[in-house]
Amino acid sequence: MKNITVIGAGTMGNGIAHVFAQYGNKVNLVDVNQAQLDRALQTITKNLDRQVSKGIIDEAAKNATLVNLSLVTDLKTGIANADLAVEAATENVDLKLKIFQSMDEFAPAACILASNTSSISITKIASVTKRPEQVIGMHFMNPVPVMKLVEVIRGYSTSDAVTESVFEMSKQLQKVPVEVNDYPGFVANRILMPMINEAIYTLFEGVAGVEEIDTVMKLGMGHPMGPLRLADFIGLDVCLAILRVMHDGFGNPKYAPCPLLVNMVQAGKLGDKSGEGFYKVDPATKTATAVHFK
Ligand code: NAD
Repeated sequence: MKNITVIGAGTMGNGIAHVFAQYGNKVNLVDVNQAQLDRALQTITKNLDRQVSKGIIDEAAKNATLVNLSLVTDLKTGIANADLAVEAATENVDLKLKIFQSMDEFAPAACILASNTSSISITKIASVTKRPEQVIGMHFMNPVPVMKLVEVIRGYSTSDAVTESVFEMSKQLQKVPVEVNDYPGFVANRILMPMINEAIYTLFEGVAGVEEIDTVMKLGMGHPMGPLRLADFIGLDVCLAILRVMHDGFGNPKYAPCPLLVNMVQAGKLGDKSGEGFYKVDPATKTATAVHFK
């Protein structure tokens, strides 16, 4: 059993806390916002219930998972005994640098500091700590309890021993770790985000509607979910932040975010988390209905 600290209790943080607790680790889930922590516990409980109803786990395993989980609002307390800390706070570079300075200050010397960032440089994050060889990217996919991949990103100074430990811990969670190097967007988002951005441009230029674009990609390319539905699911603010990191990092205009994406984020249409993006999601039934764009 290991002591794990997960920082940020949003879409990703609750899933990461869920899987570590499910596989027998003690987890402190830390967020500055108590309401987010309460929502995260509700989501984890609901997802555990779904796992029970599907016969993936039994009632005893569900209860053991919940017993392993603590909700904490103070990082200093939450990280004091951690073997591994996984940061999953908002995708904002200044925020992450501040959080990593605090993680470095308050975590035990041997603790590995990981980030679930989708695109921000692990090397840059590591540079604000006194232990850059112990800083690594541990990029889980959404929804974390379901998706098998962990993209493991080695920063410039990340040691072999730390990479091996993170591989071992990912396997313990029944995930498949894949090692990649530290360049903007890594592998997953370097390929995914230009596709999502192009789908948004296709809508923006009036080539086709939301449902038509997603249907082409589902039925024509065998994608389980269309790119616009996936963008809503990821969060349009997260997609925009990743595109901006790639645009800045490579200096290549091909990563410039579509103006429609920028407008939607400015209007607070963030996808499923705000109830509306390219689809409107009914809060009761969770049914998604495509929005008509003029
Ligand atoms: P989110 O907006 O759902 O949640 C972010 C959480 O961070 C919020 O609960 C917020 O209160 C919390 N937070 C902000 N400042 C904090 C602080 N100082 N200390 C502790 N908590 C703080 O975001 P998300 O979608 O869960 O994304 C989190 C990270 O995971 C980002 O780096 C994102 O790029 C990455 N990621 C997201 C996805 C996805 O599909 N959404 C997939 C893979 C990786």
